[in-house]
Amino acid sequence: MNIGVDLGGTKLAVGTAESLQIITTPATSRGIVAAIEELTGEAQGIGICVAGRVDLQNGSTFAAQLPQLHGVPLLKHLSRPGRRVTLLNDADAAALAEHQFGAARGTHTSLYVTVSTGIGSGLVSQQRLYQGYRGQAVELGHAGGPGQQRCPCGRIGCIDISASGTAITRSARTLLGDPNVPVDILAQLAAQGHSGIGQIVRQAAEDLAPFLGNACVLFDPQVIVMGGGVVLGYGELYLDALRRALVASLGQWHIPEIRVAQLGKQAGILGALQSLE
Ligand SMILES: [Zn+2]
Repeated sequence: MNIGVDLGGTKLAVGTAESLQIITTPATSRGIVAAIEELTGEAQGIGICVAGRVDLQNGSTFAAQLPQLHGVPLLKHLSRPGRRVTLLNDADAAALAEHQFGAARGTHTSLYVTVSTGIGSGLVSQQRLYQGYRGQAVELGHAGGPGQQRCPCGRIGCIDISASGTAITRSARTLLGDPNVPVDILAQLAAQGHSGIGQIVRQAAEDLAPFLGNACVLFDPQVIVMGGGVVLGYGELYLDALRRALVASLGQWHIPEIRVAQLGKQAGILGALQSLE
């Protein structure tokens, strides 16, 4: 049997498409390895997706939310004869799941982009997930633009800084003069036609669009699947601005259809399982 693991900074989910167990992510790497061992039992395949970068050369992960795993050879700790273990970025897992079972099912090549706390992405072509030499995802959020701000990743001008859900929330709260407005209230205000928040949301979509355009020119996706909290929260307000700006960005190039992700939070586990196929 194969089991999927969705390893996040606060929650560790283990299971299959049918059943899922969720625990608090242990504070130590030993604790994480022990929990995965215990919850996966005698599974012959363990697919692990993680919020952050993976390094398949070392079998390790590098995620800001999981400092306890920095440099830890997770794959080595979990591997044993007769068991296959895969490790992939969580946006890559979602990209794979949406391609196989969700919004991009039946398409040739799909680019998945999630705009949430950060911006993540993954590329799947003909059922095959693109992973680089180190197993890294196609990290659109850390493609550099004209911005001059330094990203926590160390690069300058990453689109993640200005167009992520975190950036939208920060700008909207500043506009309202209240640093504690809940995110769902911001979405509600936008839906009711709050022009200032609407402008912030549209601007974030317009800022991301040229990066999506670059990805279209580079990878020629048939569809783009958009997921994450910003798309869920702001819906057509965000997507309409994104579509318009993408069309403007692509000129005479083919404009792929933009679809909304279908699998939600389950995408990670489904993709992690799929990575074992
Ligand atoms: Zn960055």
